[in-house]
Amino acid sequence: MVEFTPFLTEPRYGAYWIDHIQMRPLRQDSQSPGEIFLGRRVTDKFRTIMVDPNLYLAALMQDLKEMGVKFWTKKFTALGELTGLPHPALVNCSGLGAGLLFGDENMYPIRGQLTLLKPQPEIDYSFISRQPGGVLYMFPRRGNIVLGGTHQRGYDQLLSEPAEVERQLRGHGELMASLRGIPRMDPSDVQSLWAPKL
Ligand SMILES: Cc1cc2nc3c(=O)[nH]c(=O)nc-3n(C[C@H](O)[C@H](O)[C@H](O)COP(=O)(O)OP(=O)(O)OC[C@H]3O[C@@H](n4cnc5c(N)ncnc54)[C@H](O)[C@@H]3O)c2cc1C
Repeated sequence: MVEFTPFLTEPRYGAYWIDHIQMRPLRQDSQSPGEIFLGRRVTDKFRTIMVDPNLYLAALMQDLKEMGVKFWTKKFTALGELTGLPHPALVNCSGLGAGLLFGDENMYPIRGQLTLLKPQPEIDYSFISRQPGGVLYMFPRRGNIVLGGTHQRGYDQLLSEPAEVERQLRGHGELMASLRGIPRMDPSDVQSLWAPKL
């Protein structure tokens, strides 16, 4: 998370602090459910850095162009094409493509389907609700509100599934019907969204 700190000062990078809340369903047998948000039991809440990839990637490319970095697009189909390059160093950042390119059988896709709503600048928090029927999460970007989501291991279909759009819209609608305010954060509780404390 620390490496994004310098980008927080300029909005064009799309990196910003956000309050994040994690929830699970209420326990029927529990005497004191603790803090409730959207009709769910709050299991964790902290400040974190959210990166809006649409803004961040465009700003990064712009910075690199201004530094004289040259860009070109090429699809590599075999490892030999890489070893034939004249450059003294290569950085492998081919993501899922590394599986085919390097014969890495440990690489597999995890499919995530999002539903994008119109932007709401007043939304300054995000949440994830782990619940029966599938996870529901929301985070705001400058250009839209992102609703999720799926996490389908080994599934590489790119087409949107209408049933999943329906599940997300219905699920988020049900959550929002219970909105009664946003949990207060301890400003000193800062964590990475991708490695939350257990
Ligand atoms: C649904 C979903 C939502 C997400 N939302 C966010 C978010 O809001 N904020 C955030 O920070 N992260 C988000 N992430 C995570 C983020 O998308 C990934 O962490 C990030 O894209 C990883 O970047 P990467 O450069 O390692 O790989 P990739 O983005 O996968 O880039 C790999 C690149 O290599 C290229 N490539 C592959 N094979 C070859 C080849 N043979 N020849 C030439 N080029 C090749 C591909 O075309 C691609 O451009 C999200 C992920 C998912 C699934």
